[in-house]
Amino acid sequence: MSETAATIGVIGGGQLARMMHAASIGLGLRLRLLAEGPDVSAAQVVREVSVGDYTDPATVATFAAGCDAVTFDHEHVPTAILHDLERAGVAVRPGPDALVHAQDKAVMRSRLTALGVPCPAYRVVADAAELVAFGDQQGWPVIAKTSRGGYDGKGVWKLDSAADAAVPFDGLQGLRRDAVVIAEEFVDFARELSVLVVRRAGGQAVAYPVSETVQTDGICTATVTPAPGLRADQERDLKAMALRIAEALGVVGVLAVELMQARDGRIVVNELAMRPHNTGHWTIDGARTSQFENHLRAVADLPLGSTAMTAPVAVMVNVLGGSRPDLVAGLGKVLADDPGLRVQLYGKQVVPGRKVGHVTAVGEDVDATMERAWRAANYLMGAGDE
Ligand code: ADP
Repeated sequence: MSETAATIGVIGGGQLARMMHAASIGLGLRLRLLAEGPDVSAAQVVREVSVGDYTDPATVATFAAGCDAVTFDHEHVPTAILHDLERAGVAVRPGPDALVHAQDKAVMRSRLTALGVPCPAYRVVADAAELVAFGDQQGWPVIAKTSRGGYDGKGVWKLDSAADAAVPFDGLQGLRRDAVVIAEEFVDFARELSVLVVRRAGGQAVAYPVSETVQTDGICTATVTPAPGLRADQERDLKAMALRIAEALGVVGVLAVELMQARDGRIVVNELAMRPHNTGHWTIDGARTSQFENHLRAVADLPLGSTAMTAPVAVMVNVLGGSRPDLVAGLGKVLADDPGLRVQLYGKQVVPGRKVGHVTAVGEDVDATMERAWRAANYLMGAGDE
């Protein structure tokens, strides 16, 4: 039996680390944080905070030295630093050889394709001429994306014709130098889906029900779980696929597999994330064990908990910064209107469009539950106040 990690180091101090902190309390785990600043979301609640630069090897090594295992709020720590940690005997979960598939979309596409996982047709293209050749062969429009450094839809371009072929190469200059451009078949999707699995170092793994995710301007704004209308065999196959990916890549912790369902029903993988994920926030209030708790259990090498839902339907809606500057002041009304509603606020300054919290409603009926979650989130975003 392997030793249980008692002190977990979390690199990155955003809302994911904050929600990990909440989950750590009941498990009696000690969380230490390497934060970007003294007041970031998780630094407001974790007691042991180091402020430092996660791209600096010495800073990360010093931080990790006091931890039994290290995990992440984001995927941006350079793998070279993480390999150094592993050589120094630190348990890095997920490890760099897994994490690279969440950092680099070219590596991810090539590995998933080799595993036989359905992905859009793709090619790494060196210049505009190669991109045009891909588009002429596949048909336009084409999706071009940076292999590294993209987020929330930045670094993804829809190109309508060969005339746009220079756009991603120009765009890449502003992003980063170690990235390449990937050309992808444009998937005319009817909706996006997400399946979350959690894997423990020894191999135990669990899968959550598949969610439908709503993206607006490249940002996840809402999820509905279970994904309405998904057939039982599709649900089963998607979970099995995600578990197979987690096993093959050696992921420890949460693996989120983001999917696109084409209008003809075909489902392909868009990308992978290896940390608690926005599309799993509903699990705090809608599943027996939240993704944050299961992530920590996996990182601490503890048995994983039930992913069963606590109600037939769970709807999560993100609260994005809007015209209401004080979210706590808005709670009085939303909590009074709907005692079953659950709110998570991240302690972040309200900036337009920024993720500052989320709400979750659980219920029996998809439409009614969606209505409740959206009503509360819209109120907190200040919609209709102006
Ligand atoms: P990011 O890392 O910025 O989240 P993604 O690769 O997830 O970038 O792409 C962002 C969004 O772009 C996706 O949620 C999806 O809506 C759209 N997208 C990405 N790839 C394709 C594709 N091959 N076909 C159609 N739409 C795509």
